[in-house]
Amino acid sequence: MPETNLTDLSFLRALTREYGIVPKKKYGQNFLINRMVPERIALAGCPDERDGVLEIGPGLGTLTYELCKRAAKVVALEIDASLLPVLEYTLSEFDNVKVIEKDIMKTDLAELCTQEFSECEHVRVCANLPYYITTPVLMYLLESGVNFKSITVMVQKEVADRITARAGSAEYGAITAAVGFYGQAKKLFTVSPGSFFPAPNVESCVLQIECYVHSPYENCDRELLFSLIRAAFEQRRKTLRNALKKVLLPGETEFLECKLEEMGFQADIRGEKLDISQYAELARALSLHRAGSPFSGQSGAEYC
Ligand code: SAM
Repeated sequence: MPETNLTDLSFLRALTREYGIVPKKKYGQNFLINRMVPERIALAGCPDERDGVLEIGPGLGTLTYELCKRAAKVVALEIDASLLPVLEYTLSEFDNVKVIEKDIMKTDLAELCTQEFSECEHVRVCANLPYYITTPVLMYLLESGVNFKSITVMVQKEVADRITARAGSAEYGAITAAVGFYGQAKKLFTVSPGSFFPAPNVESCVLQIECYVHSPYENCDRELLFSLIRAAFEQRRKTLRNALKKVLLPGETEFLECKLEEMGFQADIRGEKLDISQYAELARALSLHRAGSPFSGQSGAEYC
């Protein structure tokens, strides 16, 4: 085997041949082969060497290698058991890494992070995500109850565009508002298909979410908030008033109309025009309306 260089294609070919590895489409295995990319992800995703990093899908260890150089500890969850022997080889020079054969979606992240990162200042997530489950993985991380400092992930460019879209734009959707509840998302840089082996047929982008310690939208019923967002975008073409009918209780449509007017919106406004803070305001108003909250002293009519 030539000297370890995971982003050198001839080394990678020799390595995969030696370990009998054929990239599996079903696990979204597109390994990074552009040296600059894992370096840049690790630099942006783990700027503090006191922090621990949770990686999803280490693959052959290309990004993991860069993370190990910069983090206090790296815990990498890999679903594909056949990659474990090669990871043992490629990460053999580090003693701050633990690879666990596990499906991220079946892992209790709160328990794992308490067990593995108690000595670390913060816990961050870094990953070149498998594209077949990007959105479920992101929501699973955000809803895990773990206070991640940041989440830095490679995703399809189209997904990054959606998550960072402005309210009212064509890309804006339920996922934009949902991620916005948990943190602030931004695109860091785009990555061309040629940076992977095998090359995917889409452009990619590194996305970073700086997670809130406490969401500014927490002071409302979270379940109600998310059900409003889901309903609004399930029927995107409908007016918000009509789209929300299925989650509103009898008599609440009039209350909603008053509240929207108070917020400065026309009665025929569509859900795609409201950002997360406006959905949170709606959810708060509806909760108060439902509770007939004594300290608010407001009924629906008083909002008008
Ligand atoms: N990190 C490597 C790199 O950048 O070259 C590999 C990234 S590859 C796009 C995605 C990796 O996620 C693969 O190693 C795949 O086996 C793994 N994976 C796919 N689904 C997973 C799951 N549900 N849980 C954990 N790992 C998963």
